[in-house]
Amino acid sequence: MAEAAAAALAAGLEDAAALALTGAEAGADTAAGDAGAGAVEEGAACPPHAARESTQIIATAIQRPRPVIAAPIILAGYDARVSTSTAEAEAREKLAQCGRALNRLGLYGLAGHISLRIPDSDLILITPGGGLDKSRLKPEDLTVIDASGKRVSGPYPPPLETPIHTVVHEAKPEYGSIAHLHAHWATVFSVTKEPLEPALIPARCLGPGPLRTFDVPQLVTTPELGQQLNAALGDASAVLMRWHGITVVGRTLEEMFTRAVTLEDNARLLWEAKVLGAPMPLPREAIENRPTGSADETLVRTFLYYTNLERPADQQIHSGARYMGS
Ligand SMILES: [Zn+2]
Repeated sequence: MAEAAAAALAAGLEDAAALALTGAEAGADTAAGDAGAGAVEEGAACPPHAARESTQIIATAIQRPRPVIAAPIILAGYDARVSTSTAEAEAREKLAQCGRALNRLGLYGLAGHISLRIPDSDLILITPGGGLDKSRLKPEDLTVIDASGKRVSGPYPPPLETPIHTVVHEAKPEYGSIAHLHAHWATVFSVTKEPLEPALIPARCLGPGPLRTFDVPQLVTTPELGQQLNAALGDASAVLMRWHGITVVGRTLEEMFTRAVTLEDNARLLWEAKVLGAPMPLPREAIENRPTGSADETLVRTFLYYTNLERPADQQIHSGARYMGS
């Protein structure tokens, strides 16, 4: 579809190009949910001696193999400000890996999108909608947008609910990555009045519960709705969007990923626990007094595990961390 659009633009056929792109934009966000869960952990005993050094080693290792992008990904007719710097190429690779991993876990499929700031720039990488198979998401599929949500480059239009990303990125620059997901088990809680409380020790990474809620029964398609969502999120790690899904933030892509997967796993466990009786939320002091010394290393390790799942046996990467039996 994008090739058809590019070809049409190259030939000066603007209307044909727009028509070719329409299909990709039309399915940007549909109200569908997916089942799935994962198990992750955050912030516990790690050998303190290696924390800073190994985090750097892990960060380097996780970027292998370095992606090679032969040419800038610029669609004719769009501003060509973006060059595929090493930083951008690495960000593209990580975001595509993250999308495939979230898809494998059932948190991301037809609906949803994730974004990552391009280091040292005001630009944002975002995954496209349009019904693409997220299990095959590639670095070159990603769209670059500016702070207003305007497409700067990339073969596909940004998703319909891009204001979730642009508004939160602008309001909370400390967050490098944002995900909007129609994750099934968390979304179950969005259609009930049951509080979504942290119940597993790993769910400490979500902060004190219950999860805050955004109570507007609309898709977030405008900056005004994005502002309302951002207000509901506040300084929390995630917000439950009533009748819809979740939005999760993180200082890094690894933090966003770990929070999203943990939130979904926690929601499924709570739902299942209700079969036996009233769930026991994690004591608040366990959350407020959680260890933080090894948190970053743990986040990298968690993301690495899920990206290792698509690597052959002889290309597995070990983080060097020892943590919770792993
Ligand atoms: Zn949505």
